[in-house]
Amino acid sequence: MSRACWICGASADSAEHRFKKADLVRAHGRGPYIGPAALYHYRSGHKSLVQGPNSKLLKYSPSLCKHCNTTYTQPFDRAYDAFISWMMENEEAVLRQRFLDFEEIYGSNWEESQRDLYKYFAKSFGCRLVDATTNVPPDIVECIVRNSFCTHLCLTLAVNEDTLLLPSRHRNGFIGKGKLFSWTPRSAPRSDDIFTWDEHVSWLTTCYWYNNAPDDACGSSWIADRKLIHLGSFAPLNKRERNELIKKTRDYK
Ligand SMILES: [Zn+2]
Repeated sequence: MSRACWICGASADSAEHRFKKADLVRAHGRGPYIGPAALYHYRSGHKSLVQGPNSKLLKYSPSLCKHCNTTYTQPFDRAYDAFISWMMENEEAVLRQRFLDFEEIYGSNWEESQRDLYKYFAKSFGCRLVDATTNVPPDIVECIVRNSFCTHLCLTLAVNEDTLLLPSRHRNGFIGKGKLFSWTPRSAPRSDDIFTWDEHVSWLTTCYWYNNAPDDACGSSWIADRKLIHLGSFAPLNKRERNELIKKTRDYK
């Protein structure tokens, strides 16, 4: 059964990448990923060989129409590409100062560009919800189609300190998504959906807080409404795992 595009309601005939193609190409090249360049996708404990950046494994099933997935959201993709490229080029300074000034990244057009970047993340979140067979809340659709919006989706950007332990040539190819959690408070079982989620490119982790107060340690709350945001910090490994990782990274060198 074909779905309706979750943005405009037309027939959904276009599949969004689970991982941004440009991120994969930047880190791993254009493929094919064979021999020493073999690339694996890990999902729910399963490991699959990925042939190239257009592999079906790396796409959601169609949940958008072609227009919404390409022409309409192209400015959002561009804002994201410019953001990641700038982050990679300025990695050392960003990690030292631990904040981002959107004007430094985008220049005088920063207000519109940081909004487009937020919309890029909102689209990613919507596609993930559909993949989890959950309806996309109307306020998420609204923030994609409007320039002025009210939404329950807060984002924070954080440094994964454990990923930072990896040499840059290894961590740059570390691209993935965390588990999508749906919460129902015991005190209000009929309340609106509450979700948390995260995605990462290398150490840079985008944390999604929907209907949920962000953890301040994970960075400044951002709803496309700031010129400057502070990066948060977290370290998911326990002491033993971290020591093992440090030992392994010595072997890489
Ligand atoms: Zn559409």
